[in-house]
Amino acid sequence: MIKRRTSRKIWVGNIPVGGGSAIPVQSMIKVPATDVKRAVAQVRELEAAGCVIVRAAVPDEESAQALAEIKKRIKIPLVADIHFNYRLALAAIESGADKIRLNPGNIRRQEEIKAVVGAAKRRGIPIRVGVNSGSLNTVRRPTSDVRRENLAHRMAGAALDYVRIIEKLKFRDIVISLKTPDICSTVESYRLIAGKVDYPLHLGMTATGPLIPAIVKSSLGIGILLLEGIGDTIRVSLTGDPVEEVKAGREVLQATGLSGGVEIISCPTCGRCRVNLPRIVHRFQNALHLTPNTLHGSLRVAIMGCEVNGPGEAKEADIGLAFGGRNALLFRKGRILRKVKEGEAVSALLSELSNYPFKRRFS
Ligand code: SF4
Repeated sequence: MIKRRTSRKIWVGNIPVGGGSAIPVQSMIKVPATDVKRAVAQVRELEAAGCVIVRAAVPDEESAQALAEIKKRIKIPLVADIHFNYRLALAAIESGADKIRLNPGNIRRQEEIKAVVGAAKRRGIPIRVGVNSGSLNTVRRPTSDVRRENLAHRMAGAALDYVRIIEKLKFRDIVISLKTPDICSTVESYRLIAGKVDYPLHLGMTATGPLIPAIVKSSLGIGILLLEGIGDTIRVSLTGDPVEEVKAGREVLQATGLSGGVEIISCPTCGRCRVNLPRIVHRFQNALHLTPNTLHGSLRVAIMGCEVNGPGEAKEADIGLAFGGRNALLFRKGRILRKVKEGEAVSALLSELSNYPFKRRFS
């Protein structure tokens, strides 16, 4: 059982972060905010996949202004990602951004921080202090344990210094992130900061590469921390479709037992399998992604290829399908319900699934 670190609760729009709330999955749109039509379409895709908070890059004044139009057409909270120019944060707040991300590596002047904090305070929105190794002065990729440890201390130190400036302005609606492309440095950075402040932590890694390496790295980095009880919101970042980021984020939460959902247990198949099991699993999984609701608690669905391990796993699952030849036995909570043909497999599973209460759980 994971004992979560005690953190303050802040609100990003209508979504609570920290204070023991459900952990929201975030992502970022990858089209310019100024292309409002595409930006809105991407936000909607992300939301349909289970994204709860979305961020947009704000590299110029036009992007800051475009946030107002995007906000009108989307339902989930919108975060403005600000670098270099504090005036863009002010413009984004003016446009209705629900949170501002500031990078301590490139917005450093006290009077600029003060201006952004003042505007955030007036609007009642939080600020994320988002440290990235790539913009932390001159960081060299860590290749030794000593360098990793140094980097972790520098990351946590940079965040802490920035947080202290913000606190002096009597502002406490703060979220912190400390992202690097290196698992050990990232994990150590978050462990360090987690012991020093009670602000909610946004977990993620950065510059992790394409789909599979990115998912492996993020799952390890984010997963280790979540299992230690550290982390209040997550973003898996990868070079590619942001919908994959959201799917991966949901899987990480589910695998660590921090969100409800449907866990699929399926065998790798081998020469004994007489049906197209990958297709059945793929179709079932797609049907689940079309309904990105979370369950209260977890539900385990086993889809197994033959009688070697099939009946055992299917009996242990909440819903199980164990093939033997071209037909399968359908199980519910260890009890055989009936025989199912290959072509009926997905609909039989979905029909069983409809007996369980699906609900969104973000309160
Ligand atoms: S359950 Fe059967 S089909 Fe699946 S991997 Fe094991 S032996 Fe092969």
